[in-house]
Amino acid sequence: MFEDRPTYSFSRITTFEQCARRFRYRYLDAIKEGFKSIEAFMGQQVHSTIEWLFNERDRGHTPTLQDSVSHYCASWDREMAEADPAVRVIKQHDSVTAQHRQGAELVASSFERIFLGDRLHTEANEKHFEILLGGRHRFQGYIDRVARSADGLMHVIDYKTGRRRSKGFSGKDAEQLQSYALATFAETEEDEVELVIEYLRTKQRETRRIGRDQAEHIERALVARIDELESSSVFPPQPGVLCNWCGYNDICEASSRSSKEQPWRDYRTQTTQ
Ligand code: SF4
Repeated sequence: MFEDRPTYSFSRITTFEQCARRFRYRYLDAIKEGFKSIEAFMGQQVHSTIEWLFNERDRGHTPTLQDSVSHYCASWDREMAEADPAVRVIKQHDSVTAQHRQGAELVASSFERIFLGDRLHTEANEKHFEILLGGRHRFQGYIDRVARSADGLMHVIDYKTGRRRSKGFSGKDAEQLQSYALATFAETEEDEVELVIEYLRTKQRETRRIGRDQAEHIERALVARIDELESSSVFPPQPGVLCNWCGYNDICEASSRSSKEQPWRDYRTQTTQ
């Protein structure tokens, strides 16, 4: 019945709210982005390494710090060689090598802080969900990790490799986790979940326990955002500093990308060796 309807995600909603033109290019016109930022690429390699660590533990292995950094380096080189679209370095004084090193540092500090000290039982890594919001909007997402503590409480965990933009458990990061809680309540019998945001750069953990009784409020807020998106018939550009990181800035006439960031440096086959 809803197969012909679009499937929303939290990033689809926030893309519309940040720049409706970018939303149109990506989701309505289905235009492929011209590049991926080096920051996003680094974040993916760090995420996949943390996922690998917990999967290894579930297989009965005990990976070391050296193993995790080696896995990260191998993943980086393999993915960089096959990157499509190409990876782009945007900031003037940034480089592939600098980002690679920063990612390795995040892996090392996460190994100590998140992996070695973890006492939770993993239920799923990179868990996909798809639910129906307000009885009409398909909504999907991928949860970095779902795990359970000894007292039976389910933890819904998200890792952030980017710079922190809000204080405490708030802002878009918190809203994203709340949408994951909604999915957890829809797909399980849990009455309460612990939402956890791990900020890998600042080594901070933000948590919020929420109950099933809050699900209706969260759902109503998400449905209102999707309704507003669906009622829009114009998709104006919203130029700003993020244009530098937008994969459509080569085709968008409103792009305000900074000329200071030129020339672009795209990478596909370069490794860090
Ligand atoms: S380049 Fe800027 S204005 Fe154009 S779509 Fe991207 S973010 Fe929006």
